[in-house]
Amino acid sequence: MSADYDELSQWQDVLDEVMNGHEDGLTCPFCDKKSLEVDTDGPMISIKCKECGRWIEGQNAF
Ligand SMILES: [Zn+2]
Repeated sequence: MSADYDELSQWQDVLDEVMNGHEDGLTCPFCDKKSLEVDTDGPMISIKCKECGRWIEGQNAF
């Protein structure tokens, strides 16, 4: 499970930005492209990279 944990920690900075209301101009931590698609739907946050296809879903901390 260490790989999953690493991936999660890679996303953490991006998740923090989104939770702070910064949804634009975010850089993918994996491919370094500004191709992240952010979807905040109620209590859930989902972030997907249109470039490398990695994604994460998390709970909005608000
Ligand atoms: Zn990417």
